[in-house]
Amino acid sequence: MANLAPEPEFQQAVNEITVTLEPFLAKHPEYRKALEVVQIPERILQFRVTWEKDDGSLAVNRGYRVQFNSALGPYKGGLRLHPTVNLSILKFLGFEQIFKNALTGLMMGGGKGGSDFDPKGKTDNEIRKFCYAFMQELSRHIGADTDVPAGDIGTGGREIGFMFGAYKKYRNEFVGVLTGKGANWGGSFIRPEATGYGLVYYVTEMLRDLDSTDWKNKRVLISGAGNVAQYAALKVIQLGGIVLSLSDSTGTLLASDPQGFFAADIADIAQIKLERKSLTAFSGAGKYTWHEGKRPWTLVKEADVALPSATQNEVSGEEAKALLKAGVRYIAEGSNMGCTQEAIDVFEDSRKSITSLQETKGICYYAPGKAANCGGVAVSGLEMAQNSQRLKWTPEEVDAKLKEIMINCYNTCRHTAIEYAEGGVVPSLVAGANIAGFVKVANAMKDQGDWW
Ligand code: GLU
Repeated sequence: MANLAPEPEFQQAVNEITVTLEPFLAKHPEYRKALEVVQIPERILQFRVTWEKDDGSLAVNRGYRVQFNSALGPYKGGLRLHPTVNLSILKFLGFEQIFKNALTGLMMGGGKGGSDFDPKGKTDNEIRKFCYAFMQELSRHIGADTDVPAGDIGTGGREIGFMFGAYKKYRNEFVGVLTGKGANWGGSFIRPEATGYGLVYYVTEMLRDLDSTDWKNKRVLISGAGNVAQYAALKVIQLGGIVLSLSDSTGTLLASDPQGFFAADIADIAQIKLERKSLTAFSGAGKYTWHEGKRPWTLVKEADVALPSATQNEVSGEEAKALLKAGVRYIAEGSNMGCTQEAIDVFEDSRKSITSLQETKGICYYAPGKAANCGGVAVSGLEMAQNSQRLKWTPEEVDAKLKEIMINCYNTCRHTAIEYAEGGVVPSLVAGANIAGFVKVANAMKDQGDWW
């Protein structure tokens, strides 16, 4: 084994895949070679980004793009702007993205990029100057048929706009090189909503499958207050569920009203987040309680569904046990690798512990991010398709396609788990997602001579 710098998040993602692939690899040992090859990015770009602050002084950041795998199409994946960004985090995100994109059924490879730039406390002017400086270098390495970045934490519609404008100036081409564009200049309807809506559509299938039920009156814990959490919450409310919480890195907001969060309040929170402020700036007029420094998972006695939608490793083993104790039967990640391995083990053990579908009480059915949150990148894929056609589909058309993709994704995970993964009456969606995504990518890589 080569002596590599420690990359804990990336190792965690690789370990999860390796362990869950084992039943498949035992039957098809030739694929072990593919697993060895797929772990190494095709290319990593690292660059310097210097930009000018409003006071005229210089600021410098690290810029990255991990072009991980292009077996299924151009590299595709978001750009994260957050002070914690480093190569371990971008390699884990890029690695997950390969299999996630495969699960959408669309033709997209996997990549991820970003910078350790912190958007908090920056003016719009500074954000624009950073985005232009970042794209000055990145524009040499991407392209509509090469690598198509999009948003992620810290990169929303405003940042994509600045980056698109910069790309156009540096390369003199108006092409679909980024997704998440503005609706009036090449963006797709439903792209902002897609990750959150898709997450809820995926869980709709889990609810139907395990308990023949739906969202009516389900009590739902959501973490995060960004794009994914906001639209997941709105869709849950629309389908009759009760949103109990939203959170950010400073704490959790719990609803005091039995109706849960109100859609109008979520719109106010969206505005606060657009201004890069913390949730403490939301007054809530007495309808909510604030829990400083806390995550939602241990704050309520009873809930039905948990949707971690903030960032990686936001549910610990202990918190997973608290969720089980509160009666949570469904957990699906809106964030990438939202659960620690210890938390996944708690949920998967609960699933394995039952021997008949009649006694599923006490289990928590777990869906990993690469399946449950693939709706975002799926609509990015639809945005690429619309850009190639130079056409724009209606919101209804895009939403219907998103729904179909999420239903297919759930069925693929479920059926693959039943076919390959070790037993249990309730299938392991994490094993199913990993095996289905991996086999699709590995087969394409074999056809293209990447392994033999
Ligand atoms: N950053 C999102 C993800 O984690 C979206 C990527 C994209 O649309 O390319 O899947």
